[in-house]
Amino acid sequence: FKPVEPKEIKTTCAYCGVGCGISATINNIDERTIMVRGDKLHPSNYGRLCSKGTALADTLTLDDRLLHPIYKGEQISWNKAIKETSDHFSAIIEQHGPDAVAFYVSGQLLTEDYYVANKLMKGFIGSSNIDTNSRLCMASPTVAHKRAFGSDTVPGCYDDIDHAELIILTGSNTAWCHPIIFQRIKKAKENNPALKVVVIDPRKTDTCAIADLHLPIQSGTDAYLFNGLLAHLSKQGQLNFEYIEQHVEGFSHAITSAIETTPNITKVANICGLAEADVATFYQWFTQTENIISAYSQGINQSSSGTDKVNAIINLHLATGRIGKIGAGPFSLTGQPNAMGGREVGGLANQLAAHMDFTEDNINRVSRFWQSDHVSSSQGLKAVDLFDAIEAGKVKAVWIMATSPVDSLPNANQVKAALEKCEFVAVSDCMQHTDTTQYADMLLPALGWGEKDGTVTNSERRISRQRAILPPPGEAKPDWWIITQVAKAMGFEQSFPYQSAHEIFNEHAQLSAFENTLDKNDPLLKKRDFNISSLATLSAQQYDDLMPIQWPVTSVSPQGTKRMFEDGHYFTPTGKAQMIAIEPRLPEARLSDEFPLILNTGRIRDQWHTMTRTALAPQLNNHKAEPFIELHPSDAQHFNIDDGCLVLTSSAYGEMIARAEVTDSQKPGHLFIPMHWTEQLSSKGRVGALVNPVTDPYSGQPESKHTPATIKLY
Ligand code: SF4
Repeated sequence: FKPVEPKEIKTTCAYCGVGCGISATINNIDERTIMVRGDKLHPSNYGRLCSKGTALADTLTLDDRLLHPIYKGEQISWNKAIKETSDHFSAIIEQHGPDAVAFYVSGQLLTEDYYVANKLMKGFIGSSNIDTNSRLCMASPTVAHKRAFGSDTVPGCYDDIDHAELIILTGSNTAWCHPIIFQRIKKAKENNPALKVVVIDPRKTDTCAIADLHLPIQSGTDAYLFNGLLAHLSKQGQLNFEYIEQHVEGFSHAITSAIETTPNITKVANICGLAEADVATFYQWFTQTENIISAYSQGINQSSSGTDKVNAIINLHLATGRIGKIGAGPFSLTGQPNAMGGREVGGLANQLAAHMDFTEDNINRVSRFWQSDHVSSSQGLKAVDLFDAIEAGKVKAVWIMATSPVDSLPNANQVKAALEKCEFVAVSDCMQHTDTTQYADMLLPALGWGEKDGTVTNSERRISRQRAILPPPGEAKPDWWIITQVAKAMGFEQSFPYQSAHEIFNEHAQLSAFENTLDKNDPLLKKRDFNISSLATLSAQQYDDLMPIQWPVTSVSPQGTKRMFEDGHYFTPTGKAQMIAIEPRLPEARLSDEFPLILNTGRIRDQWHTMTRTALAPQLNNHKAEPFIELHPSDAQHFNIDDGCLVLTSSAYGEMIARAEVTDSQKPGHLFIPMHWTEQLSSKGRVGALVNPVTDPYSGQPESKHTPATIKLY
């Protein structure tokens, strides 16, 4: 670490997928005090920060930091920690094979950390059992993008907001969960009063403050609404047949399915629990407006039909040609700071590396690049299945990095049981005491925000640097360093020679372009150049100085690519986008007399995930001080609950206690409980224990927005 005070250090916020740029200045390096402000030059936020980003300087205390390796409760040296970890993994692999071990990683990791973890597991251990908590938030769009575009690519960018005439926010409390996007939409509306905003959400959230139309949709029925719109556009003769003919396949099946499942507005309104007039208004606005952004987030993704819901949205943009154009396109709002970077390196169990699937060609190519004969040849276990396999004793060692599955996974009590049974649990974390670290045999101290160095990629494909501001505390190390040392100790010394994040970034960028066999003379690829990008040959200084840039970065677009698919060519074998025939499905878990209410989970404005960082900033705890449950007055009356009472909420999986907030912002029959509280913070406030473990069959993403539940006065 090179102290750089008093210079300003440009870095990126630790929290959500907006990926705001930050300028940090050190006040006192020994006291770990810094000042942060929004980076006015960062194109994702132009100087703006929300409450969480603004409070980052107040989260750098060393209280409860994990500062030394700990094995079975005893502080040990790094040498011993590396040896024990590698010995346990090696012994289990030797005895039971590579699929008996797993990594469970996180969208909090930097791209470089992710790359090394993926390389070790898929390239050298020879298993694909590496999955990530991004499975809980982004897996459905990932699959939907691949089905539609042939690649996991977000077409648009934030600048499109300034050019849109209609913005649809569906399954997204943007005001709280992506606040800087929300502010940008608000500003765009001030600049252009004709801009309309439609919010589709069972809850009347703060996002509705800028809504021209709020559709309080019945939980889980979104695909009916979008299929109905496709059928409506078809009936009104409002499809773009020129675009469809040139650039789209699968049109007739998708239209037939839409017309069959949702033939008219009356049926849509009935299924979705909406006023017919409101559905008609929404459909009319979509029909009459050219520049439309459909932004979607967890309310769409966290569903047993999340992939289909995303494709139902993308279908609308393909059928009308409203994609790859200024101010128009489907837009996935990613959850975590580096959910996108993890996808880029292949940090999901169903991807090999660098956006590549497990085809024979890809496996051979990656084997040549990594110079390994042990590259995994098939998909690994996705998050929920992975912890099932741990509980079943099939996976006997797991290394958890930068996440707390005991809180965040569905059916979280089963995760506890799984970790209790697991032969060897290693956890890399910044914090010593979390609901997950207590199950660890080995605790490995990792650097946190403001200490680590690398890159993240935000929702608009923008790669930004996270830079170290403060020196490493205690013996904490970068995640990539810890993984590298274990890889070396396992006998893979030659393949993990890294001394810096920069070396890893270059290798990652080189792999993304390695032996790209696409024929550059192919007219379908006329504007693209897949040669090794300038990012693959950055010097250490260039990497240090890297300005925020949107991938892909090619010799044709050395300054990055703002908008994808402008030429109407996609990454499918035919170069055409694929419309998917959607048959909408209702949530899998059905209500019953025992569990008659729908439990929805989500974020609040001023906290992040399990609050390990945000709870350290006193001003962030003022917003909501304890776990709460929102319920409609009619449900409160039915269950005899007054505002402010303690409520016991139960599902088939577990129970928790929270304080009642009776509000008509909830639909009758719907409950909302925030995801943030842990047992460390509130012994009975962990909502993950209640969430049903049903997953989407394509993406493996859990249905965290729809668990049958019941309530009673505590
Ligand atoms: Fe920006 Fe998100 Fe950080 Fe807020 S939490 S400052 S919106 S990146």
